[in-house]
Amino acid sequence: MLKAYKFRLYPAAEQKTRIEKHIGSCRFIYNWALEQKIKSYEQEGKSLSCYDLNNLLPELKQEYEWLKEVNSQSLQGMTKNLDSAFTKFFREKKGFPNFKSRKNPIQSFSVPQHYTVDFEKNVVKLPKIGEVKAVLHRRFEGKLKTATVSRTSTGICYISILVDDGEELPEKQEFSADTTVGVDVGIKDFAVLSTGEKIDNPTYLKNSMKRLKVLQKRISRKVKGSSNREKARLKLSRLHEKISNQRKDFQHQISSKLIRENQAIAAETLNVNGMLKNHCLAQAISDSGWSSFVTKLEYKAGWYGKNLLRIGGFEPSTKRCNVCGYLNSNMTLDVREWECPECKTKHDRDINAAINIKKFALQAQSLIVT
Ligand SMILES: [Zn+2]
Repeated sequence: MLKAYKFRLYPAAEQKTRIEKHIGSCRFIYNWALEQKIKSYEQEGKSLSCYDLNNLLPELKQEYEWLKEVNSQSLQGMTKNLDSAFTKFFREKKGFPNFKSRKNPIQSFSVPQHYTVDFEKNVVKLPKIGEVKAVLHRRFEGKLKTATVSRTSTGICYISILVDDGEELPEKQEFSADTTVGVDVGIKDFAVLSTGEKIDNPTYLKNSMKRLKVLQKRISRKVKGSSNREKARLKLSRLHEKISNQRKDFQHQISSKLIRENQAIAAETLNVNGMLKNHCLAQAISDSGWSSFVTKLEYKAGWYGKNLLRIGGFEPSTKRCNVCGYLNSNMTLDVREWECPECKTKHDRDINAAINIKKFALQAQSLIVT
């Protein structure tokens, strides 16, 4: 099975420059490839494959000599990434692929193969970059798949290495209504379970978020282009990184706990694009990074033979009474509690939704009949 290992890199100054070259060139290729795809579709109604695009790369390198300084497999990796962005767009109805901006806080490129990891010397050898110092705090064995080198806005570099340990994923365990839990994204809480349990965001994360608001205000008071503003910006970026790490840790804790305690977990695949139109929910969703949480549930379920049951974001999980099925169609976002006019059950909005998510998922598996 595939597992990802992430390590901090400590590139020397010259290696840093080469990493930047890779990042810039890969972003260039991605945007170029996206443009080619759009043009060819608009002008000839033809869809270019990543194979077609890779065939154009040698010509492009004649025009832009600096591309030759970069590992060509990393460049080809970008057309493959673009392909999967299009697959997501068509199959999963995710948004149309965007051009990559140099302003994105995290910049990265992939190294598909021909790199080595030395645990004794604590170095990773990357093509066209060389032996980079790393902190390899976890050993692994298996076949090296694609590695991704990333750089944060405060200049910290990481490498994430995908490793195939050659083992098969365990068989999926059986589950029933009793061993399945429904999880819903809460408006106030991080997540709400069908058992009635509410999982709040941890205090340390909330404190960081408060601090974020303070720093954002501070930055807006500094003169544009001044060194004080630059200092404040760096402080803010550092906090953003800290928050992202804290959130990741928390998501790991919660997802591991849910996987350990249940045979199956039902979760909603949110229609995030549709929901972002709503301002307050947009905050809640981007804050909790729901989709990255569901992704963690998904791969951990795979490792331990548990089941992740996804339901579409179009089922009215919030508005349906989980007891009698009454549809409370004029419910607004601010309603936290409601009473079902049909069966008189009193509902907590989020818990009712979590119970419905579990119910819909089990219905889809024909494990319960209504
Ligand atoms: Zn009811």
